[in-house]
Amino acid sequence: MILVAGSVNIDFAVQVQALPSPGETVLGGPYRVSPGGKGANQAVASARAGARVCFVGCVGTDDHGQQLRQALDAEGIDTAYLRSVADQTGAAFVTVGADGENAIAVSSGANRALQASDLPELGGVTHLILQLESPRDAICAFAQAAHRAGVHITLNAAPAQALDDGLLRLVDLLIVNAGELETLCGPQVGRDLESQLKVMAGRGPHAIVVTLGADGAAVWANGQFHRTAAFNVPVVDTTGAGDTFVGVLVASLPHMDLASAAQRASAAAALTCTRSGAQISMPHSPAIEQLLTT
Ligand code: ADP
Repeated sequence: MILVAGSVNIDFAVQVQALPSPGETVLGGPYRVSPGGKGANQAVASARAGARVCFVGCVGTDDHGQQLRQALDAEGIDTAYLRSVADQTGAAFVTVGADGENAIAVSSGANRALQASDLPELGGVTHLILQLESPRDAICAFAQAAHRAGVHITLNAAPAQALDDGLLRLVDLLIVNAGELETLCGPQVGRDLESQLKVMAGRGPHAIVVTLGADGAAVWANGQFHRTAAFNVPVVDTTGAGDTFVGVLVASLPHMDLASAAQRASAAAALTCTRSGAQISMPHSPAIEQLLTT
């Protein structure tokens, strides 16, 4: 079973012609309200790819919290460890420009309440997925407990933040995009991808995958570096592509090697790009297999 611990948000998204500058008001189209948050998104992507998933996180006692719990339940995800706390449910306010560029403000709300004691018993858990939208203390405590229990740990180091080696040393698989990798490496490391990967591998993770948008992904494992091309699809909205990639890659790990899992994740992420929204645009297993075989 995969345990995903992290954020769960309600997303409010509005499409505008051009993103507003500071002090400016712009008029947009109809707004969309949909389930999101990196943790919940990755849990949904894993479940749709065929994995058994348990989600650990916090929602508020408001209507949005109830709605988000129901959305996860509807995916067959175990929400027994999704705690309701006396706060607002996390919310993301997303503005999307006509060129696909976005600007996002997040109100973390209940996500700030996640703590070490929220971690369930790890019996039956083979893989843990973490991101950086939750309190650092909780993330580190979860990683330590999982490491002790021999659970495979994937850290999606997003949003971009510097990290100390204490956490990185516990990580089996690090997944980042190019900007996040640069932030982790710091200014003293050059911009060459292979050099950045070597530096990061020296800091702990056994394997590293870097997502490169339309350029696919790069995989570093056992001292070897190789690239996976992106699938050529009609792109409508890339929201949720990174989360789909993470969820599907980890869901695939028990069944194939890392390179093949990255390819399956690329196919799933490409499909997410063909539709608007985060969770609502994520594919189920048959669509992923179909793209892989065409
Ligand atoms: P993030 O959204 O976290 O920055 P990326 O933009 O790197 O992540 O996208 C994650 C993955 O989604 C990529 O590795 C790729 O497989 C897929 N993807 C993203 N953009 C496209 C695209 N334009 N066409 C096809 N696949 C894409």
